[in-house]
Amino acid sequence: MQALCEACGAPISDERTCQDDFYQMLYWEHEFPALGVVHHLMVISYHLQHPHLYSPQGLNGIQQQLKQFIETDITPEQMRQGMRQAVDSGKRDYAITARPGSYGQYDHPMPWTLHACDVVAGGAENYIQNTHAWAQSIYSVLKQTGELT
Ligand SMILES: [Zn+2]
Repeated sequence: MQALCEACGAPISDERTCQDDFYQMLYWEHEFPALGVVHHLMVISYHLQHPHLYSPQGLNGIQQQLKQFIETDITPEQMRQGMRQAVDSGKRDYAITARPGSYGQYDHPMPWTLHACDVVAGGAENYIQNTHAWAQSIYSVLKQTGELT
């Protein structure tokens, strides 16, 4: 039987998990710095599909960032700068990362259509385009399920 990621439902195996895909994408960004333009978008997409890694507030924060990214023409670079300013000015007064007993989750299993493994399968040459498609698909599912209003 095909094993599935408990967090996002992607097919996994003993040799490959979503975390491996995450590291593969980070590796590409390191190897090919031009790909780093979608770094922040990749990180929030990954964590939106693995919400237990973030606190409930952190999860809400990245949902709002995704919404801002999709609904406005803000670039990933501008989004990253905005984040940094918010952090620098001390506006972010909550912990992003999960702590025992305090982690993000959805009320229902989410019917994700694309996963980290799909972006990795597309190869480094399509990474920017596929990361955008991945983020867009997550946005659509969050909207459909009423998670994001
Ligand atoms: Zn997963």
